Amino acid sequence: MTVNISAHDKAAILSEALPHMQRHDDAIIVVKYGGHAMGNEQVARDFARDIVLLEQSGLNPVVVHGGGPQISEMLLRLGIKSEFADGHRITDAASVEVVEMVLAGAINKQLVGFINAQGGRAVGLCGKDGNMLIARKATRTVVDPESNIEKVIDLGFVGEPDKVDRTVLDQVIKSDIIPVLAPVAASEDGGTFNVNADTFAGAIAGSLGAKRLLLLTDVPGILDANKQLIEEIDVEGIRRLIADGTITGGMIPKVETCIYALEQGVEAVVILDGKVPHAVLLELLTDHGAGTLIRR
Ligand code: ADP
Ligand code: MG
Repeated sequence: MTVNISAHDKAAILSEALPHMQRHDDAIIVVKYGGHAMGNEQVARDFARDIVLLEQSGLNPVVVHGGGPQISEMLLRLGIKSEFADGHRITDAASVEVVEMVLAGAINKQLVGFINAQGGRAVGLCGKDGNMLIARKATRTVVDPESNIEKVIDLGFVGEPDKVDRTVLDQVIKSDIIPVLAPVAASEDGGTFNVNADTFAGAIAGSLGAKRLLLLTDVPGILDANKQLIEEIDVEGIRRLIADGTITGGMIPKVETCIYALEQGVEAVVILDGKVPHAVLLELLTDHGAGTLIRR
């Protein structure tokens, strides 16, 4: 899409980006791109172009992508049936193979291709590469509403971050290469764990001491009980919204990641709508804040 305004106006707009480029100069910005927002190819290509623009402007973007919908589609195509426990998909041995193929293979390389097609230099990696992220088996406890008894559910090959080694990422970032990370991690013995992409992004952002963590999703941000966008919230506020049931489902790992990343020293986390054109530029290079800003 080319914008139909005069060249003079375009120049003025570019000039307004200068203070933003300066305030983020050399900053590491971790951007998590959700599987839902990626379903549309043009949206994904526009996102890739924005990432290249950030890199060109002196920021250091690190991209983490999801792929839930694409994994479900491939499991269906291959006729692999999943079992669910309390709404959570159980990742068995056959499924985790597909998870790795889709995330670290298909989606990762597609995004790398889109970034490089815009003149960027992206390299696709997953948590296994260079021991970037070692995970341990995740445990999930649910409370049975009738008996009020807590029970542990086994989700299979789903992991949570245990150790992060930033060696490879440091090298890549230093060389003006854009890392594109698939949320697949190694187990201690070299096996495979699927890690929630938000959780993965938070662990990476924390370890790198990122200035910002942007979580791009398919809703405008955190919505309150009346479905209105919350423009700014702190950790206390988030805890209240989880407790009263306003935050549920896929938003829970997002806000838990926010809390973790802020505790690790990330300055601010933003949850925003990845379907909005140039959402990343809007947030980082203009005066307009997009989505929900979360600070300690
Ligand atoms: P992604 O692929 O971006 O990780 P998810 O589906 O995992 O997307 O998480 C985002 C979803 O969380 C939203 O589409 C929405 O259905 C759900 N959600 C639950 N509670 C809230 C809330 N309070 N505000 C916004 N979204 C919420
Ligand atoms: Mg999600």
